[in-house]
Amino acid sequence: MGPALSGMADLIEQTDVVVVGAGGGGAVLALALAKQGISTVVLDQAAGPPGGLRGEILQPNGQRVLDRLGVLLSLPADATRSVRLFHFCRAGGMRLCSIDYGDLPAPYNRAIVTLPNVVHHAIVAAVQQQKSVTLRYGTSFTGLLREADRVVGLSTQGPEGTNQIRAKIVVGADGAFSKVREALKIPADVYLYPDGYLIAILESEEPVSESFYYIGHRRILGLFPATGNKVYLFYMIPKGSMEAMKQRGIPALQQTWSQIAPQFVGLFRRLSDWSQTAYMPTGRVRTPTWVADGAVLIGDAAHAMNPHASQGRMQAMVDAMALSDLLPGCLADRDYSAARLKEFERVRRPQVTMLQRLADQQVFYWNTGNPVVAFLRDRVFQTLDRNARLRYQVLSTTAGLRTMPPFNLIDRVIAAGFLPDVRAHERSPHPMSS
Ligand SMILES: Cc1cc2nc3c(=O)[nH]c(=O)nc-3n(C[C@H](O)[C@H](O)[C@H](O)COP(=O)(O)OP(=O)(O)OC[C@H]3O[C@@H](n4cnc5c(N)ncnc54)[C@H](O)[C@@H]3O)c2cc1C
Repeated sequence: MGPALSGMADLIEQTDVVVVGAGGGGAVLALALAKQGISTVVLDQAAGPPGGLRGEILQPNGQRVLDRLGVLLSLPADATRSVRLFHFCRAGGMRLCSIDYGDLPAPYNRAIVTLPNVVHHAIVAAVQQQKSVTLRYGTSFTGLLREADRVVGLSTQGPEGTNQIRAKIVVGADGAFSKVREALKIPADVYLYPDGYLIAILESEEPVSESFYYIGHRRILGLFPATGNKVYLFYMIPKGSMEAMKQRGIPALQQTWSQIAPQFVGLFRRLSDWSQTAYMPTGRVRTPTWVADGAVLIGDAAHAMNPHASQGRMQAMVDAMALSDLLPGCLADRDYSAARLKEFERVRRPQVTMLQRLADQQVFYWNTGNPVVAFLRDRVFQTLDRNARLRYQVLSTTAGLRTMPPFNLIDRVIAAGFLPDVRAHERSPHPMSS
């Protein structure tokens, strides 16, 4: 049954679940709930689905979610690209390590690079076909409705003015600066990293089929092939430095990139205007709880992480699936208490916490300007290149298939090159974590 107005007198809408934010997590949750016939309203303050430039890499766990929802096979072939090989190189060109997604279990033994927003648009199109979901753009969350200490709905501001929606469960999927989290009075440690990313998509003259990731003295430049001859470029820059970079001009930037990745000089020449670029800040959110009586936080609202993990959006999607598995039982038992919803957090927190920590370790080693730390980092990459066991543990973590950290204490010593590994050629089983 779809959401309905309870009566024209009070103009209060009723639904089972109301989701704030139709982003990476909220849209997937809406679709997953719709597939179970659960009446859902999703609102988003944006005027429509996003249209700007952003990086899009679908890791194997994200591919599995989309497959489960019937979206993966509907992605347009001319907007996606499967990539197997990722080469990590020192700035200047020397290869340190190559990771092959083909080592992972089929069918998700690849990364999928898509053109901006392609996945999101496919999910939104699928949501819009569902009778039990109402998706409302241009509508902002303005506050919670409460009865005693329980959340029983929310108020909104949209094109038709203010509105109230009564719901059994309110989901805050409204990103790192979540207003739902604020209204729930859930304290949050919101940290903005000192570095963000300049992103661009450039058209190469020659086909590029493998990914390259260059790491140097406070320098990171990633090049990922997209459809046709298009290549995504991620370049780490200090936050607040975009204007100064523009002042120095495009030739200066091209020269820097050419020193980092000399084999792509021709590609860098294709940057002719700053409108081909965008800046993306990076942040981390940590909260002591993701649930309250009648409310849940998912995705970046609960646990934004540094993009080194390459899992932020995947984790929002996996949250959505875990919550959509739990909610039918809550609705059947009419139990929307924090204690019941905590099951969602119990299932999801181990992987999220592990990935947040791992991403922060990567920030420490990868973004460094300290030569000793950089030396250790490069040694770890070189060990990984020779050690199939450790390489697989790293790959399956980035692929979203592990809840355990990739290295235990002994693995760390081995990775740093201080101990030989008698099991270097073994490949550990890959626990599908979610
Ligand atoms: C440089 C960079 C690269 C990244 N690369 C990757 C990657 O390769 N792989 C990956 O998995 N992740 C990546 N991410 C992370 C990823 O983009 C996020 O983790 C993901 O979008 C989180 O999804 P979400 O649904 O929680 O939040 P969002 O996608 O941010 O969605 C939140 C939605 O809530 C809406 N909203 C906010 N406030 C309100 C309000 N008051 N009322 C109504 N609506 C509201 C917003 O309009 C938005 O649509 C990257 C991030 C950065 C910065």
